[in-house]
Amino acid sequence: MRRQAWPQRRRHATTAQRANGEIAIVNYDRCSYCGACVPVCPPDCITLHDATWQIAEDLCTGCRRCVLVCPTAALNMRTRVAA
Ligand code: SF4
Ligand code: SF4
Repeated sequence: MRRQAWPQRRRHATTAQRANGEIAIVNYDRCSYCGACVPVCPPDCITLHDATWQIAEDLCTGCRRCVLVCPTAALNMRTRVAA
């Protein structure tokens, strides 16, 4: 039997994944730049660089995993604004 290739990691959120219409947002006053949110993000859209938290908004699926692991409650969700 022919084996199927392992699927490529998805780099962009599909319309269905963005169905909840939310995106992660950070409160910089609360963020300690601990990095805990970075590895739990499935589409790998969070970047910490020079004490700056950035998100690739087109990749965020609104899954809230980052919100759940943040030890300082710096992350929240906001409604995605249509481009
Ligand atoms: S987990 Fe929270 S405190 Fe840590 S880097 Fe992410 S947003 Fe900042
Ligand atoms: S809500 Fe999910 S996809 Fe969006 S930044 Fe947080 S962990 Fe990543």
